[in-house]
Amino acid sequence: MTVTSQAPARTDHVALAAELAGRFAERAAAHDAEASFPHENIRELVATGYTAMTVPREHGGGGAGLEELCRAQETLAAGCASTAFAVNMHVHGIAMIAGIGGPAAERAYHAIAHEGAVIAGGFSEPGVGGNWWHPTTRAEPVEGGYVLNGRKGFFTGFPAADLLFLSAARTDDRGLPEPVGFLVPKPEHGVTVTAEWDAAGMRATGSHTLLLEDLFVGEEHLVGTPGALPLMFMQGVHWAWCSFASVFLGIARGALDQVVGEQRGRTLHVLDRTVAHLPGVQFRVAEMRTRLAAAEAHLYQAVRADHATAIAADPLGHYIEMSVMKNSVCRLAHEVVTLALQVQGGSALLSAHPLQRAYRDVVAGLLVPPNSDVTAEWAGKHALGVPVFAEPRWEG
Ligand SMILES: Cc1cc2nc3c(=O)[nH]c(=O)nc-3n(C[C@H](O)[C@H](O)[C@H](O)COP(=O)(O)OP(=O)(O)OC[C@H]3O[C@@H](n4cnc5c(N)ncnc54)[C@H](O)[C@@H]3O)c2cc1C
Repeated sequence: MTVTSQAPARTDHVALAAELAGRFAERAAAHDAEASFPHENIRELVATGYTAMTVPREHGGGGAGLEELCRAQETLAAGCASTAFAVNMHVHGIAMIAGIGGPAAERAYHAIAHEGAVIAGGFSEPGVGGNWWHPTTRAEPVEGGYVLNGRKGFFTGFPAADLLFLSAARTDDRGLPEPVGFLVPKPEHGVTVTAEWDAAGMRATGSHTLLLEDLFVGEEHLVGTPGALPLMFMQGVHWAWCSFASVFLGIARGALDQVVGEQRGRTLHVLDRTVAHLPGVQFRVAEMRTRLAAAEAHLYQAVRADHATAIAADPLGHYIEMSVMKNSVCRLAHEVVTLALQVQGGSALLSAHPLQRAYRDVVAGLLVPPNSDVTAEWAGKHALGVPVFAEPRWEG
């Protein structure tokens, strides 16, 4: 994405998101139909300083906190869910990396704030799925760094990425696999796209599948020290799961606005009034508002929690709280969009109708991390006082 000059960093990222969402909404249907990557949207996000939002101010960024990030992402997603989701790994990823700091983080701040660099992240792997703690991608130590071999699935935002945030396992001093993270400039060799993203939902996210083959990564690209990756996830999880939730909440809010706007002016031949006068429509719209309010309350309660105190008191409990919130918000968002389709009726399924795209996009919220079954297991065990990581996982 490298650009030579950028506008000064904006501080009103929610207002900026609202401006951009309107323009992105006009292009969303075409990108969805063609499964094309919205490069022009990402260029605008870079040029306006949106992608520098979460870079600390002292490093030339916008210094946005978690609430501003989530409000902005929610707003952007209501315009184009794919664009919001594609930039999400970048905007929350750099905030998480900032949590552990170090030279790789400082180089990334500079690249983002001054050169317009964009990050994409690959943790999921075919055969590992969402079990990120156990990458099968190997990082073999060699002089000056590591050689990586493995596969990555679902690499959202890859087409626009300048920096790849990659996980791999190295062998620790005890001979055990240890997950490590690298933030590496997109290399010319060693990374091949083996499958272009062709999916039912989030079609414009470029979430390609990659092969990493003898990819040399200098040790200066390690994020933090070896062993820092799990710490980064535990300490920064609220950035990840709150921002994910905000994207899907934004899709649901967009669906409500869409369906309400349309029913206000829509009449059917058998009615002498607008569809808005039908009780079924009114009850479903009321239900949508109720579920949206519950989702919003849960998300922003998690956003405003005292994360440092919660982590100090019970890091696993904090991780679980955030995971439960993300799954609950995404489930409610999916229900809201399903209700919107019922309010609209059969025309909601027509390819030209924005609700069918919202429906296909919001389903992704049920599938992206944290895994809902693992979250339920951890949350139940934690609440019941059953050791979360004891083996075997279940008795009987
Ligand atoms: C649109 C989209 C974009 C994405 N973008 C990215 C990205 O940019 N970077 C990235 O790294 N990943 C990305 N992902 C991948 C995502 O992070 C998940 O890894 C992926 O969806 C597979 O995880 P899963 O746990 O849902 O399914 P799988 O891991 O494939 O699991 C299959 C089934 O087994 C169950 N299961 C799996 N593990 C366990 C377990 N330990 N205990 C109990 N049940 C289990 C699951 O619930 C599911 O039912 C993306 C996914 C989507 C849909």
